Amino acid sequence: MTMMMCKQAHASLLQLPIKLSLLRCQPQKEKVVVVMGATGAGKSKLSVDIATRYPAEVINADKMQVYQGLDIVTNKNTDHECLGVPHHLIGIADPDADFGVDDFIRTSSIAIKSIVGKGKLPIIAGGSNSFIEALIDDRNYEFRSQYDVCFLWVDVAMPVLNRFVSDRVDRMVAAGMVEEVRKMYKPNSNYSKGIRRAIGVPEFDSFFRSEYSSSIDDETRSRLLESAINEVKINTFALACRQLKKIHRLRDVKGWKIHRIDATKAFEQRGKLADEAWSELVKAPGHAIVNEFIHN
Ligand code: ATP
Repeated sequence: MTMMMCKQAHASLLQLPIKLSLLRCQPQKEKVVVVMGATGAGKSKLSVDIATRYPAEVINADKMQVYQGLDIVTNKNTDHECLGVPHHLIGIADPDADFGVDDFIRTSSIAIKSIVGKGKLPIIAGGSNSFIEALIDDRNYEFRSQYDVCFLWVDVAMPVLNRFVSDRVDRMVAAGMVEEVRKMYKPNSNYSKGIRRAIGVPEFDSFFRSEYSSSIDDETRSRLLESAINEVKINTFALACRQLKKIHRLRDVKGWKIHRIDATKAFEQRGKLADEAWSELVKAPGHAIVNEFIHN
């Protein structure tokens, strides 16, 4: 018995150098973090939280934030919110051009290589699940053979998120959203191209049109404005529902190993309590998952 065990041990010792040399031949894969979630759930915030803990840079994967302009409408992070973390693919495309999946794969791959080249961790934050899916699963690019990916999903219960996005639209209006869209309004615009597809642009068409018409009174105009704002709220929530369905599909049908972080309780609080709940329930688990991913 002892003899047999010795023989087995000897045999496995003999194999060891071969296995080690095989391991040495395999190139080490670089690590990439992807932060997903419905609009308003806090993807950008968590991405910056992680990027301030590690040497990291953020790559935007929101298909509207890639365009120049409409910073309020598309909800781009302000300089203050970026906390000094470099952000890529924000405002890089002509607002009248179409920035598609191929453009995203090309530009985000360049950004990933440059971030990795600086010894930093790329964090892809977004947004557009079709962009993320194409980048990760595109056969030509073979992302998974080059990179190890850690997926985080910031999730918020839908009724709570609905209230939040509705209030966010009111805050956007207070911050100058209508003025921002008015500046780029052209009669008979093509709303199926470039940045004009963004939620918050086509919805104001009837209202801006009414401003050109002398036969429409002020009361009707303010009703049109109110209904445009309401439509933005409805469309934003519909976008959140679609994005959520896509994340479920990537996890349940395609088998992506996505770590879900429930941020609902942080959204149910206000002020300091909300910050504390975010730190405890979102930031801390996010750091723990990324820490484990980086060190394994
Ligand atoms: P799809 O394949 O349906 O375009 P996707 O996951 O690639 O889905 P989404 O990010 O869900 O892309 O965007 C779908 C649509 O939602 C956009 O075409 C745009 O109209 C709107 N949208 C997305 N992000 C924003 C944003 N930041 N601001 C305003 N509108 C947005």
